[in-house]
Amino acid sequence: MATGEFDLIARIRARAGTRDDIVLGIGDDAALLAPPPGRHLAVTADTLNEGVHFPRRTAPADIGWKALAVNLSDLAAMGAEPAWCTLSLSLPQSDTAWMDAFLDGFLALAGEHGIALVGGDTTRGPLSLSVTAMGFVDAGSALRRDGAQAGDDVWVTGTLGDAAGALVLLDREPAHPLRRRLDRPTPRVHAGRALAALASACVDVSDGLLADLGHICARSDVGARIDIPSLPASEALMDAFDDVARPALQAAGGDDYELCFTADASHRERIASLASRLDLRVTRIGRITAGSGVVAVDAAGAVWQPPRTGYDHFG
Ligand code: ADP
Ligand code: MG
Repeated sequence: MATGEFDLIARIRARAGTRDDIVLGIGDDAALLAPPPGRHLAVTADTLNEGVHFPRRTAPADIGWKALAVNLSDLAAMGAEPAWCTLSLSLPQSDTAWMDAFLDGFLALAGEHGIALVGGDTTRGPLSLSVTAMGFVDAGSALRRDGAQAGDDVWVTGTLGDAAGALVLLDREPAHPLRRRLDRPTPRVHAGRALAALASACVDVSDGLLADLGHICARSDVGARIDIPSLPASEALMDAFDDVARPALQAAGGDDYELCFTADASHRERIASLASRLDLRVTRIGRITAGSGVVAVDAAGAVWQPPRTGYDHFG
């Protein structure tokens, strides 16, 4: 059903959720928030545009989930505890059924992580969603990109390449089991918070492993060596793609929203027990080296070159 901007905002407001640290939520010119004294505020923003960040005809509930998930993934990569978010919507038309379904996905994930929607903006235009997420970290304990040291292990959570595989299969098999990983990524919030005490550097894998690990290397002034055969693959990815096709999806695909982190080798057992406590696969995939740049090697020890190293909107 078509309706006005203020009806849409009223629907959002009725479902937005609340927290004790929200002095004033949706409905005024700005929200008033009370951050805990002594902790730092982590702030991140990400936009999803139709046809760029999600396929056209993606279900509205999946769009809602993903718009928040990619932002929670950035908070996870900082080791932050999610608290508040804002949502700026550009919609081609005012459609209450679309909005209700969108909120179903967005708020299901928000509820899982205790993050409350405190404001935003609603305008007419091409379908685009922009979320700003805020969370807390203890002063001095955020997971940053600039702390990796030569000799550190390189690790990754979950599995890589599923979303990129779903994109390859999109036209032929739009409902392939891999599609869920493209539409409903799982932000590794609990892992990020637990890793704050162990990891030396961390990044979330949104643009492809090699590209994102490259950001850690650049900021930390180190290099990295990655073993292609060690990259974790899901059963569904192994069923759909052979050993020749898989490495490009895993090392250079995007939209994984896993965490890639570095840690001193003395932390291996603690990381393994953290992984079993969280029931999350965590895989050691290489090492930080002196020097610069990320080198990937195949099973024979030869340098493996990706067809491309990551997604660059202006590349
Ligand atoms: P203003 O014109 O003063 O910016 P708006 O009419 O845009 O106010 O918004 C009214 C209230 O609704 C504000 O509190 C704003 O934060 C909130 N709001 C608007 N759009 C959204 C949205 N998409 N999600 C959450 N809150 C929203
Ligand atoms: Mg406004």
